[in-house]
Amino acid sequence: MLIKRGIPVSPGVAIGPALVMGAESFRIPQRFVSIDAVDTEIARFRAAVESTCQEIEVNETLAKERLGAEHAMIFTAHLMMVRDPKILAEIETLIREKSFSPEFAVSRVLRQYAKRFQNLGNQYFAERAADFYDLEKRLLKQLLGEKREELSHLTEPVVLLAHNLTPSETASLSKQFVLGFATEVGGHTSHTAILAGALELPAVVGVGNFLSDLSGGETLIIDGSHGTVIIDPDEETLAKYHDSEERYRSTNKRLESLRLLASETRDGVRITLMGNIEFPEEAESAKHRGAEGVGLYRTEFLYLQSQREPTEEDHFRAYREVLKAFPTQPVVIRTLDLGADKMPGQLQAEYADGINPALSVRSIRLSLTHLELFKTQLRAILRAAVHGDLRIMFPLVTTLLEFRQARMILGDVMEDLDEQGVPFNRDVPVGMMVEVPAAAILAEEFAREVDFFSIGTNDLIQYTLAVDRGDPAVANLYRAGDPSILRLIRNVITAAAKYHIPVSVCGQMSSDPMFVPLLVGMGLRQISVTPHAIPELKEIIRNLTLTKAERIASRSESMDVARDVESYLRGELKKICPESMD
Ligand code: PEP
Ligand code: MG
Repeated sequence: MLIKRGIPVSPGVAIGPALVMGAESFRIPQRFVSIDAVDTEIARFRAAVESTCQEIEVNETLAKERLGAEHAMIFTAHLMMVRDPKILAEIETLIREKSFSPEFAVSRVLRQYAKRFQNLGNQYFAERAADFYDLEKRLLKQLLGEKREELSHLTEPVVLLAHNLTPSETASLSKQFVLGFATEVGGHTSHTAILAGALELPAVVGVGNFLSDLSGGETLIIDGSHGTVIIDPDEETLAKYHDSEERYRSTNKRLESLRLLASETRDGVRITLMGNIEFPEEAESAKHRGAEGVGLYRTEFLYLQSQREPTEEDHFRAYREVLKAFPTQPVVIRTLDLGADKMPGQLQAEYADGINPALSVRSIRLSLTHLELFKTQLRAILRAAVHGDLRIMFPLVTTLLEFRQARMILGDVMEDLDEQGVPFNRDVPVGMMVEVPAAAILAEEFAREVDFFSIGTNDLIQYTLAVDRGDPAVANLYRAGDPSILRLIRNVITAAAKYHIPVSVCGQMSSDPMFVPLLVGMGLRQISVTPHAIPELKEIIRNLTLTKAERIASRSESMDVARDVESYLRGELKKICPESMD
């Protein structure tokens, strides 16, 4: 049994066979073969080695012709590796003596070599480790041939393990077959983590290197509430986790009974709980959990899920679907927040080598430089707004001019629709995300011009504390409780109150139970959260009084380090709602 720890990003327990995704999504369908089949399997392995050699030779010749002999050396080295009698003998021994399938044996042996090189700990050897992974991929491609399985072709439940999953890959995971996942990289509020929550898949990210030990098929436990990944658990551990799987289910059932109760403090203050969604299909389940509208619809997933650019009709249909679940309640459509880690293939070329995508053309900046794409979306929003309480929100606004420019384009789109006689709603409220420190600092200036604010703490923390939200190496520095973050939030709430505009928090901070009393005490009366968190947050709100919340806020705001704020909030939550801490 091997226990690994990472960052818990989506609660619950998943137990099942491991599916290890390589960079090319190879899956080993069978780990063992029958003893009678050993000779045929060895012959199959030798044929795969032969074809792999031929493939490498072709590459070697090509590289020599086009790039020169020096660059072809890399393939010469690969050929030596694949023909290395010691490696071949080790693989054949596993097939003959342990009845391993050739795929399993290849993966096991080459990964062990890779790991040994990796552990030598310098750049040169790390690159040699990459050569072994590359060779593994080549051999598996030959061995699996037509049987190469992609994520979308799963036929049985698995626990997915990968170095990384892109937001688009995560978005297309089948809930029927993927029980949960763990990745080597990723941080608390990476988009992959957020999607895991949306799909309600137990997930742990930022585990560090561990895939080289695994070939797939091992029994795996993912504990998404505590950030634990257990490989080949013993029986006692397995039984314990089956129990906690059961307990998790019954807690959820108990919380579900709160669905129809008001989200209101003990002294009668209403706190509106809305849902964050990424896909239109989520609207119905958000409503089922008790969401009173959608406070953040991340529309960029319309792009990330599809190979082609969505049309105006694609946008329109998606917005209508969300409005079907919420025909009279607010639905905030955030315009495309493409870029950084959410860049569809068609637009990848926008980023030159060596630039930092988080500080480059992303989000509203991308919309303002791709006007056709932006206008297509705005047309669809304005048309759909005839059918419900839609609101428009611009992401990553940094300067007032940027907001004015986006608003002006909205005006142009209205004129076009007018001229074409297309019905639309002219009175759609237009708000912005406050997720760049500059906008939080100038909140008062913005408050004079916008219809509402929604504080995006995920990016606000990243940009204020200079910590990449997806990087596990700095995950301990990524703190929502940092006094600088509380001060920026306070500034935004004060500005919104002065100009009488609504303000909400839609970053992950508001989905974290420990921060809810603080946010209520700071004056927030609406928050938008991951839908599965709604019942638990409602229970906290119903156990809280405003006086208590205000006391918590004022004490937290007097502290000067994140660690103290967070441990104080954890302690208070335990008193308010002991069950929430289990
Ligand atoms: C945020 O930054 O807090 C936010 C809600 O937007 P996203 O997580 O999609 O960047
Ligand atoms: Mg953001």
